[in-house]
Amino acid sequence: MTSRTQHLMMLPTHAMVGLALAAPLSYLAPEAAPIALGGAFVGSVFPDLDLYAGHRRTLHYPTVYSVAALPAAAVAALATSPMSVALAAFLVGAAVHCRMDRYGGGLELRPWEGTSDRAVYDHVRARWRQPKRWIRYDGSPRDLLLLVALAVPLLVVLDGPYRVVVAVAVAVGAVYVALRRRLASIAPVVFGYVPDRLLRYVPDRYR
Ligand SMILES: [Zn+2]
Repeated sequence: MTSRTQHLMMLPTHAMVGLALAAPLSYLAPEAAPIALGGAFVGSVFPDLDLYAGHRRTLHYPTVYSVAALPAAAVAALATSPMSVALAAFLVGAAVHCRMDRYGGGLELRPWEGTSDRAVYDHVRARWRQPKRWIRYDGSPRDLLLLVALAVPLLVVLDGPYRVVVAVAVAVGAVYVALRRRLASIAPVVFGYVPDRLLRYVPDRYR
């Protein structure tokens, strides 16, 4: 088994894409916007919860999320309720997350070396999709550029707690990008001291 790396784009970038998808509702349907923002935010982060178990495969369903998102969006538009809006926003966020993962680097400890041909697993076709590397790797300078480009308009459009979420995402993303390459060399050393019984909580790529 090859070593694994994280998300192709870093989590804060995924989260901002989720918020950006729902942000137009602040104008189009202000009463549904807060719940849609919440659903899209959770949906855009959710697939990467498989970081510790078969990353980019267990919770990454590029086709299934997309196919489910269309009827869910129709239901949300025709029978608008907090539940239908949250579900549709969640599915759209998760679908776009998996699509975005193809535009980054591959699954490897040092993705800037570009040696992995595994971007995200396609359960329907039962094979890995190849990385396109538009964003060369998660935490690359271009990743940060994308994060900031999304965050600035969001800070203008959103208010209340979501504005705080955006600010925190930018701060976390900036620190991650600054440390990204060093983390890849430090992590295996640090995790080398982890007691055996805790090892199962350490992502494979660091062992
Ligand atoms: Zn992902």
